[in-house]
Amino acid sequence: MKGEARANVEAWLEYFSELRISSFYLDRAEPAGATAAGSSVTSTAPATATYVPTSSAAMRAKLQASAPAPVAPLPVVKSASLFEAGPRVENDTLERIREDIGDCKRCRLCQQRNKIVFGSGSARADLVFVGEGPGRDEDIQGLPFVGRAGKLLTQMIEAMGLKREDVYICNVVKCRPPENRAPEPDEMDTCSPFLYRQLAVIKPKAVVCLGAIAFQALYGAKQSISRLRGQWLEFRGIPMMATYHPAYLLRNPNAKGEVWEDLKKVMVHLGLKVPARS
Ligand code: SF4
Repeated sequence: MKGEARANVEAWLEYFSELRISSFYLDRAEPAGATAAGSSVTSTAPATATYVPTSSAAMRAKLQASAPAPVAPLPVVKSASLFEAGPRVENDTLERIREDIGDCKRCRLCQQRNKIVFGSGSARADLVFVGEGPGRDEDIQGLPFVGRAGKLLTQMIEAMGLKREDVYICNVVKCRPPENRAPEPDEMDTCSPFLYRQLAVIKPKAVVCLGAIAFQALYGAKQSISRLRGQWLEFRGIPMMATYHPAYLLRNPNAKGEVWEDLKKVMVHLGLKVPARS
């Protein structure tokens, strides 16, 4: 083989070599009288029987078009959580954690709360949703996600083919921050060990962080939720995914589609049936 045909074959094989597809080299013997000293591109087949693309550039373009999209590298955890740094509680239970919280006054959020919102759902749930903190309705009822955002979360759970009783729902801080402000870092640091204990007891197959605060509490680093949502990360060996908070969806209904895409990944992970056209 000579000239342009040879150059095309060399470019073609080199490209496949870059993709680590090279098995067609294996049973190839060096033919007697091979030309182009130093070249590894040889063939025992007659030149007329070899497929030669008219353009290596065209072949690259075709292959690149059919190649899977590159996977973005996951961000690196910046620091260990308080729970990771602290001792585990032997034979822990949700009841014991609630008893330990007691009539908690460990942080300033106790001052204006009505009720501590511990969490609700199945202690053996495969899936735990973690939010930021109680709002007004939750503070009155002592239950997580029972206001407008909670109703939307219930719809999301039911769209997954589950009921609220099948999952566990809790928050990073157990008392309502005044005026629904975000919890301060010291409040999160004080309260989140209870959340870590809840997760250690439940041992879910997946955790969904609802919003940036929940993500920060479990991941140990502040990150943009729009950048991280939909990616599988990990909290103490538990697969974890962040997505938008239902309260954000009430203000930005267009983001519901993105959240549904995230939840479909969770459904696949849990072995739940994903609706064919959704
Ligand atoms: S938010 Fe947590 S640490 Fe603070 S008072 Fe409430 S239960 Fe205690």
